Amino acid sequence: TPRVFSGIQPSGNLTLGNYLGALRRFGKMQDDGIETIYCVVDMHAITVWQDPAALRNQTRELAAAYIACGLDPQKSILFNQSQVPAHAELAWILNCVVRIGWMSRMTQFKDKAGKNAEKMSLGLYVYPALMAADILTYKATHVPVGEDQKQHVELTRDVAAKFNHDYGVDFFPIPDPVIEGTGTRVMSLRDGNKKMSKSDPSDKSRINLIDDADTIAAKIRKAKTDPDALPSEAAGLADRPEARNLVNIYAGLADISVDDVLREFGGQQFGAFKPALADLAVNHMAPISSEIARLLAQPDEIDRILANGAERADAIAAPILAEAKQIVGFIK
Ligand code: ATP
Ligand code: MG
Repeated sequence: TPRVFSGIQPSGNLTLGNYLGALRRFGKMQDDGIETIYCVVDMHAITVWQDPAALRNQTRELAAAYIACGLDPQKSILFNQSQVPAHAELAWILNCVVRIGWMSRMTQFKDKAGKNAEKMSLGLYVYPALMAADILTYKATHVPVGEDQKQHVELTRDVAAKFNHDYGVDFFPIPDPVIEGTGTRVMSLRDGNKKMSKSDPSDKSRINLIDDADTIAAKIRKAKTDPDALPSEAAGLADRPEARNLVNIYAGLADISVDDVLREFGGQQFGAFKPALADLAVNHMAPISSEIARLLAQPDEIDRILANGAERADAIAAPILAEAKQIVGFIK
């Protein structure tokens, strides 16, 4: 039976990238009668230092955003990772299955650490093993993520297969990444070769889900572009990362293809395209951000939803963890 799992870190303001690459797709999946489990991965967030009070706010804000983007906490399970102990426990077992060489190939660590690898937390380095545990402790089969997480889901597949092989069992299903549609790779507004991220120090690099209309319009107006008009076909965007990104964002928000966007705007200058994109983004985001604000006015209600979700998540995860421990040879 298909089971969907995905998570987002409460590591800052949610971006348009999180929305197009992840959030927006979650609500749709739950309506197909599939079991869906969505997590606020607070244990991942502390791989980079978080102010404790800010982390609590960000956790509630992310839970509110999930709901504002269409997730129904009755249909889906919505919870924060640290309330379900199986994640940490299975992560340890998987740490002992995964090889150091596999971890060393992970590009997200290299991107985040830059030249400072020695000064980063060990947690940031082993992050992919915790992510594998997140997915496998539910025996999830489908993992909807943005393009940047593909490598981590592939690692999860390798870890699952190695566990099954090392212990001679057919225990963990091999999960599939689900990376579909436009908007699975939204780039920074300042640099078309860099991913838009909520942890990017430059607020101008991203559109936050909670930005107001003027801020969104200003960020798009100032977004880096080139001096040429838009091409009439997608091929014309090949060597124009910034132009391609803005067209992709438009396509993602309007839920149409890149070719459709270029049919409408091909031959036009950014002076005309950017205001159209800003309007589209504002119209799309405004209802979401006001719904987030409305939900955040009742933090106790959010905490209650998370606690209830954690209970339901634990009911699935605990027996799978118990079986994994038994396979490994732990006495109970
Ligand atoms: P951080 O900078 O803290 O890593 P992030 O913006 O990368 O934050 P994550 O919590 O790491 O967000 O990722 C949550 C989900 O959003 C993942 O499925 C990820 O693939 C997706 N995602 C993140 N950034 C983008 C992006 N720029 N375009 C499309 N999807 C994205
Ligand atoms: Mg990330």
